[in-house]
Amino acid sequence: MSNLSTTEKIRLYKSFFPGLDNVYGTYDPDTGNVRQAKEPVTDEVILAHLKGIQPYGVYLLTGDKTKALAVDFDEDELALPIAFVAGAKRFGMFSYIERSKSKGFHVWLFFEEPVEAKKARTVARKILADMGKPNTEIFPKQDCLNNLSYGNFINAPLFGKLVPKGRTVFVEPGEPVKVCEDQWELLQRVQRIPAIRLDAIIQSCNLELNNTEPTPKEPEQAVQDTPEHSFGLPPCIRRILSEGVTFDQRICTFRLAINLKKAGLPLDLTIVTLTAWARKNKPKDGKRIITDQEIESQAQFAYQRDYRGCGCEEAVIASFCDNNCHLASRKNGG
Ligand code: SF4
Repeated sequence: MSNLSTTEKIRLYKSFFPGLDNVYGTYDPDTGNVRQAKEPVTDEVILAHLKGIQPYGVYLLTGDKTKALAVDFDEDELALPIAFVAGAKRFGMFSYIERSKSKGFHVWLFFEEPVEAKKARTVARKILADMGKPNTEIFPKQDCLNNLSYGNFINAPLFGKLVPKGRTVFVEPGEPVKVCEDQWELLQRVQRIPAIRLDAIIQSCNLELNNTEPTPKEPEQAVQDTPEHSFGLPPCIRRILSEGVTFDQRICTFRLAINLKKAGLPLDLTIVTLTAWARKNKPKDGKRIITDQEIESQAQFAYQRDYRGCGCEEAVIASFCDNNCHLASRKNGG
């Protein structure tokens, strides 16, 4: 367990969540009313946040630079932040999942030095595009500040009032279903990303640095609803992942693993995702929830061969079928 003094905690915290130092965002913990505080970000402001008195929202963008980037997944679907972490890892970057204040997750990337926000956003957008989630919100939201604007703030982690409720806290990097027991120890072992890593990714993937800011009316909803843009998962699989099942857990686990493999998740993260998913299952007839060992062996089995089928023919999968799925007409002989 970390034995940091209050002063050391504040210093460490400020090194991870720095931004504009003359303004911050906050909200009333009782009413939820959000406001901007045009006041210096002092140690007292940070301490009030950590103690759960007044939340601190950080404006990450200073000029055209940032020292951290957060991706905001507003759905309670752990598979999404896990997929982002896996995508970032493939590019040699560590990222950290935070359970946000009421619903969903933030995934944070921390940099060794201030980096160009445009580059960081470009790389994050590439990972999201590969996941089929190109319109997911990224903080900072802009590439640079114009003279009049502060940009947008994001609620910073570790708000003292919510920490005991398991919100605004980081999860264990190797076991994302668990909240990390010692948040300060985790911050101390965070691996920050050097600026040259972003340059290498941009170069190797031939990424354009233009237009990283979202156009105002991108049809996120329409994009989400098409199977090929739903984190690569058909609607039945997405519903099963969010709702759990009541029968045929083994068959379902196998089919989920095949689909997660097709979506690009490595085996270890698929096992973590499915272990978390199994807790949502409510087996009928007094049967027990599928065990972690069974999940592991079904997932391993799915990864051994190049299985492709979504599983439409299985009763458990078919019971979640959505007629809007582009495969539905084929399945129904249409
Ligand atoms: S047709 Fe139905 S069961 Fe098959 S993948 Fe699409 S939603 Fe799932």
